[in-house]
Amino acid sequence: MAARTPIIAGNWKMHRDHLEAIQLVQKLAYHLEEDDYEGQEVVLCPPFVSLRSVQTILQSDRLPMQLGAQTCYDQDEGAFTGEISVPMLERLDVTYVLAGHSERRELFGETDEVVNAKTAAIQRHGLRPIVCVGESLEQREAGQAVEVVTEQLRGSLAGIDVSDPEALVVAYEPVWAIGTGRTATPDDAQEMCAAVRAELRSLYGEDTATGMRVQYGGSVKPGNIRALMAEADIDGALVGGASLSSEDFALIVGHRR
Ligand code: PEP
Repeated sequence: MAARTPIIAGNWKMHRDHLEAIQLVQKLAYHLEEDDYEGQEVVLCPPFVSLRSVQTILQSDRLPMQLGAQTCYDQDEGAFTGEISVPMLERLDVTYVLAGHSERRELFGETDEVVNAKTAAIQRHGLRPIVCVGESLEQREAGQAVEVVTEQLRGSLAGIDVSDPEALVVAYEPVWAIGTGRTATPDDAQEMCAAVRAELRSLYGEDTATGMRVQYGGSVKPGNIRALMAEADIDGALVGGASLSSEDFALIVGHRR
């Protein structure tokens, strides 16, 4: 089994308009060296309205970064005011789509069933879901972290076939670490990512689970990326706040220098 290709993704959330997005990508590219892209995937997830500008700049400047979207709808087209379909994202060269980010789960009521339908839609069109799971502080303190995450995985991945292990990524993001500056220790993050992989093993078997990427997300910064990436079951990072700074995100992507 070939080694898993690390994947570092920046989730810009609802930040940066389409002009600021271009500047951010240009500055990021300026700070990155050619070697930084080697042997790992770098993904940018701007808001929907900036996808086209980011696509254009990635293409025109031949930047080896992939485009990601922050969510999608599960239907291909129709009278769904305000929604964006996977075929629309496909036309914009989007490769990855986040499904079930904790902010979507918490603020927009996305259940595991909703996340499951979105994951299926993303796969149906050949794009790659990044399925997000993670426990709250209350659940962690009650000793339920593994149980909660396992349940989210089972619900979100029900009936989802994974024949190409690289085509579906799981992001373990403890809710209490997102945007709080409080990171899980590398040991805790490793323990949870190993639990995620154990569940993937029971869903998909040893070979597939060994080939699937599991990201850690939650206050990833230039100062903690190396220790996190050194862990056996952490194959990348989903980065929120720090991906809005070209310097910080470049240091995170370039952590192997
Ligand atoms: C996220 O939005 O997925 C995230 C991990 O945010 P932050 O890095 O800001 O904690």
